[in-house]
Amino acid sequence: MILDGKALAARVRAELKTSVARLTAQGVKPTLAVILVGDDPASQVYVRNKIAACGDVGIESRAFRFPADCAPAEVFAAIDALNADPTVHGILVQLPLPPQFDETEVIERIALAKDVDGFHAENLGRLWQGRHCFAPCTPAGVMRLLAEATVDLVGAEAVIVGRSNIVGKPMAALLLQAGATVTIAHSRTRDLAAVTRRADVLVVAVGRPGLVTGAMIKPGAVVIDVGINRLDDGRLVGDVDFASAEPVAKAITPVPGGVGPMTIAMLLANTVTAAERQLQSQDAS
Ligand code: NDP
Repeated sequence: MILDGKALAARVRAELKTSVARLTAQGVKPTLAVILVGDDPASQVYVRNKIAACGDVGIESRAFRFPADCAPAEVFAAIDALNADPTVHGILVQLPLPPQFDETEVIERIALAKDVDGFHAENLGRLWQGRHCFAPCTPAGVMRLLAEATVDLVGAEAVIVGRSNIVGKPMAALLLQAGATVTIAHSRTRDLAAVTRRADVLVVAVGRPGLVTGAMIKPGAVVIDVGINRLDDGRLVGDVDFASAEPVAKAITPVPGGVGPMTIAMLLANTVTAAERQLQSQDAS
């Protein structure tokens, strides 16, 4: 079975459109601020896609662009102003940032209640405690895909390949919370194939085309391919060798059209949640 992230993301977006319309009618227009520093071509594309997706569901987006050589203080000042602006519900800083920036410091400048990417260290810490503000978008999108496919996670062996702060680690926290037995593999893992072959649910987030082949997958496993790799011939592929994996897996996400669209849908969902929380706190006061 192919897990169609594009179709699911479209359904999520349709639901969000209704929520946005309701909030707007109540006087709160969900708004996302996007900060882009420099002119990295991939980042430009990502920001363009996010802004277009916001527009599609009726979320207002405000883009703030800074030159690659700008001083970190300028970006901090912009974040401070956005934190204090009640008409802004979510703030996103597109990564990577130029070398003069400490990315952690920048992300931590964002108010926790507006950290719709879920990258703030406190958000990640809270995620492990099961009381997060926002789940990071890519792992949240994977959970939605698994739920849609009615994958039973309780007691399942889940293996995540990759231990980044934005994908691998939060993915592990969410799967653990859902009752799976979780293993995180990485570049220092001895005998990766032996580990991946144990997985009922295998999530691969590495950034190496074709790293996981069909021979490394347990027959009947659910395989989620987070990787996005551009090949020299221009094709976009994941980290899983789809041709050999698809016949072995019970369900698998394609690249493109799997996790990618869900990541953007979850960003929109987090922004709507932020706006809803603001409305609730207004009503309560
Ligand atoms: P990082 O580069 O931050 O992390 C990659 C991880 O893979 C590291 O933990 C690294 O291990 C591990 N790794 C590297 N080589 C191997 C190997 N040979 N065997 C096992 N593990 C290995 O990447 P991200 O987590 O940011 O992203 C991963 C991929 O997901 C990328 O292709 C990225 O483009 C994509 N992505 C897709 C998104 C989507 O929406 N679909 C969103 C975000 C990312 P170690 O820690 O030991 O170095």
